[in-house]
Amino acid sequence: MTQLKDNISNIRTRIDQAAERAGRNAEEITLVAVTKTVDAGIINEAIKLGINHIGENKVQEIIQKYDLIDRTQGVKWHLIGHLQTNKVKYIVDKVDLIHSIDSVKLAMEVNKRAEKINKIMEVLIQVNVAGEESKFGISVEQCDEFVKEISRLPNIRVKGLMTIAPYTQDPEEVRPYFRKLKDLSIDIKQKKYDNVDMEYLSMGMTGDFEVAIEEGANIVRVGTAIFGQRQYK
Ligand SMILES: *Cc1c(COP(=O)(O)O)cnc(C)c1O
Repeated sequence: MTQLKDNISNIRTRIDQAAERAGRNAEEITLVAVTKTVDAGIINEAIKLGINHIGENKVQEIIQKYDLIDRTQGVKWHLIGHLQTNKVKYIVDKVDLIHSIDSVKLAMEVNKRAEKINKIMEVLIQVNVAGEESKFGISVEQCDEFVKEISRLPNIRVKGLMTIAPYTQDPEEVRPYFRKLKDLSIDIKQKKYDNVDMEYLSMGMTGDFEVAIEEGANIVRVGTAIFGQRQYK
């Protein structure tokens, strides 16, 4: 518990400092604690310590943990991992923001399932900024057209963009990708598409969140630095 407390306070301090370096207000930056592989009991301790946004990358894990997590504090759930169309129905009622929309087919399914429960589902578009073969996401070049197309779906709101930077030891190496995502979000915002507001830029993880904040991130997704190295089961 004290370790968890220290880790969270250390991350908050680093977020504050990165915001300050960038001349930004740290209060506009949301820390999503990435809880994949972390047991519900520990997640509940994190919630007691002030964590109010949690991120999971697997539908199965959300379903398993959903009823075990303390929701009385109004914790928000983020789906940050790849989402298969046939699993959308399990989570639309549970999550607050889907970070990983990467196809029209997926967007249409989310729209359909959201409509069924009378919800407007907020989503981000996952962009594969570095063009890595191994990663999901829309290319930078196709993003504008993609946003335009899915903006016609009445039960989803495009709230911004998300990216996962290439893995690197030196976060300076990924700064250009973060900058590119920010530029892209500005370009799309200027188009003023209906149902699109480009409020959020979800970028930065344990290894690179400070650089991401310096480049304009307002959602950072941090797992390892809060909960320690993941134990894959
Ligand atoms: C696991 C994960 C994170 C957090 O990664 P850490 O390096 O543990 O901070 C962030 N975003 C996504 C999409 C992830 O899958």
